[in-house]
Amino acid sequence: MIHLLSLKLVSNSIKAVRGMQDLLPDKKARFRYIEDEARAILASYGFQEVGLPILESTSLFSRLVGGTTDIVEKEMYTFNDRNEDSLTMRPEGTAGLVRLVNEHGLAFNQTQKYWYTGPMFRYERPQKGRYRQFDQIGVECIGLAGPDVDAELLLLSARLWDQLGIASQVSLELNTVGNAESRQAFCAGLVAYLTPHFDDLDADSQRRMTTNPMRILDTKVPKTRELLVDAPALADYIDDESRQHFDGLCAILDAAGLAYEVNPQIVRGLDYYNRTVFEWVTTELGAQGTLCGGGRYDGLVEQLGGKPTPCVGFALGLDRLALMFEDQPVSSKIVDIYGVSVGDVARTKLMVLAEAVRSNLGLAVEVHHGAGKLKAQMKKADGSGAQLALILGEDEINQREITVKALRGDGGQVRIPEGEALAYLQSQFA
Ligand code: AMP
Repeated sequence: MIHLLSLKLVSNSIKAVRGMQDLLPDKKARFRYIEDEARAILASYGFQEVGLPILESTSLFSRLVGGTTDIVEKEMYTFNDRNEDSLTMRPEGTAGLVRLVNEHGLAFNQTQKYWYTGPMFRYERPQKGRYRQFDQIGVECIGLAGPDVDAELLLLSARLWDQLGIASQVSLELNTVGNAESRQAFCAGLVAYLTPHFDDLDADSQRRMTTNPMRILDTKVPKTRELLVDAPALADYIDDESRQHFDGLCAILDAAGLAYEVNPQIVRGLDYYNRTVFEWVTTELGAQGTLCGGGRYDGLVEQLGGKPTPCVGFALGLDRLALMFEDQPVSSKIVDIYGVSVGDVARTKLMVLAEAVRSNLGLAVEVHHGAGKLKAQMKKADGSGAQLALILGEDEINQREITVKALRGDGGQVRIPEGEALAYLQSQFA
């Protein structure tokens, strides 16, 4: 009876919302590790970090990402706040970044190189590598039109893969989607080609024939995919300037020795891209193999009411990147010293000493809290990964000394006068 009752209590307990993952210390350490590497690399290319709100006006996304994209049609977390304003939890960062530069007058006649990180929210079907809350690092370059800027973003992302030790598991796929006119002409060609096959298309694609034909290329429905095999190719509609831009980009990548594959299938799932689009992909993560994606969005600032401003950027997913080295240990910061004590007087003294060590020596100290036999405390000290244990028992208090024990290597220990503790510890970590 009691057993059944407790089972019921467990099943009634509140769980995390579907698709929203908890980041336990090991996973959080992986995210931090990626972020730290990215932060250092981005700084070395002159990028500055900015912070963007998680909530934005819903219209920002419907206007900039595109009202007929999957993201806006089906995936946004949108609600009315108490003032009846429609707000959306950001599904991506570029729209917010464009709003930021526009709102603060940073777009016109200026160059800005920004990056940001944080959670994004999309109501997708959760599976490994796909979540409803996931973390991205976004990198955006505002005000520069040349292919050299696109190339720099690709070079810096390649540097990150290298630094993370995953360069051999990722590859770069590149395409150009031309300018707005080329895409319009292509869409007209696509619709003309698909119209006789209208009844064979899936319902979503049928709808998109009138709302946004280019999004039909994103379909996963096999029958529609088959029909698309002989469809007109976007590559045949690309305008001369976009073609030159793309050739310029490829020439820089060739000169820099960065391998890539031109993949005409890449169009990206958002409406705002023009010219360059790219994805860094891996075969290691099954269906969720896109680690990073981006491209040019030269029309976006203007679309938001600003002056014409060329922009290019990308976003990488921390959740997927972290899965790439799931089996390898990541050195999360381990404390240097673990302090154990017996009795209240000793514990107070230990806490005061630990404060002095942190302040004066900059070392990380974890103090054992709560009672416990010395042997049990020492087990904790061993498991903490610290180099040294500080031991304060009754005898040490009486003698005004401390015991310092090596937790690695020979495990030897010494007793030193209280007043020499800091100098001794400093010498041990010199
Ligand atoms: P996007 O903003 O769709 O271009 O995505 C950029 C990157 O964010 C992808 O390459 C993924 O690494 C990551 N990403 C996008 N959607 C999800 C998701 N639902 N779960 C986890 N990562 C995602």
